[in-house]
Amino acid sequence: MNYSMIGTKQENARMSNNKYQREIKPGVFVDVYDVLKAWDVRNPALQHLIKKALAVGQRGHKDAAEDLQDIVDSAMRAQELDGTKECEHEWLQQIVYGKPTGLYLCSKCGAQQL
Ligand SMILES: [Zn+2]
Repeated sequence: MNYSMIGTKQENARMSNNKYQREIKPGVFVDVYDVLKAWDVRNPALQHLIKKALAVGQRGHKDAAEDLQDIVDSAMRAQELDGTKECEHEWLQQIVYGKPTGLYLCSKCGAQQL
């Protein structure tokens, strides 16, 4: 969507030309990365969660449920990455060129076992 196509001339004059930025105070534009940096959010799953939470359903109403589920999943992943919760591994056999390698990878945390 081109934001320059919506809003009044006055509003458009104040819009950043970066659609990911928001004006949080008059003349002060930030994007989600500025927010993550300001709050020192380092957990990548939490970063993903925050980005999602700030834009739930913006791709369309039908996508809202999907976005909310993604947030729940990201919260659980954040717990795992934080070490506050053990991963309940979901082992998938690694297949290379159609043949199992004998290695199993966790689809959730990337842990490996033979
Ligand atoms: Zn795991």
